[in-house]
Amino acid sequence: MSSDHSQEAMRFGAPSEAERPVGRSIMRGLLNTCPACGSGRLFRAFLKPVDRCAACGEDLSHQRSDDLPPYLVIFIIGHVTVGGYMMTDMIWHLPTWVHMVIWGPITLLTALLTIQPIKGGVIGLQWALRMHGFGGHEDELDDPDAGGYRE
Ligand SMILES: [Zn+2]
Repeated sequence: MSSDHSQEAMRFGAPSEAERPVGRSIMRGLLNTCPACGSGRLFRAFLKPVDRCAACGEDLSHQRSDDLPPYLVIFIIGHVTVGGYMMTDMIWHLPTWVHMVIWGPITLLTALLTIQPIKGGVIGLQWALRMHGFGGHEDELDDPDAGGYRE
């Protein structure tokens, strides 16, 4: 065994696997492009990811973004709109119905505009971390009978 081998950084998975930088993958997903190549489209319709990248052929059907994109949208847009509401209320003292007319549509519009890029970013993160089959192996189902205590 050579000394070079022992000084390599610890890696998980096969050594031949290509690098998947997390930041670059998330950024490509935020731009609604394939996290693998950055040129193919990630979505075929609103919030509907493609099964396979048209440019590089990467299998993107493994994505399981689930509830994380809406959670992130609520977290981010909630802070922006509530902060905006509080700042405008400190300056102008508008009636509540005026705030609803201003901030209701802004909240709805910004949520609709941001949820697809955020979902793309989540898919990019999952791809970079080789989650849910992106690493070449399927997820194992949680089987309560498979492990744990036995009687
Ligand atoms: Zn691609």
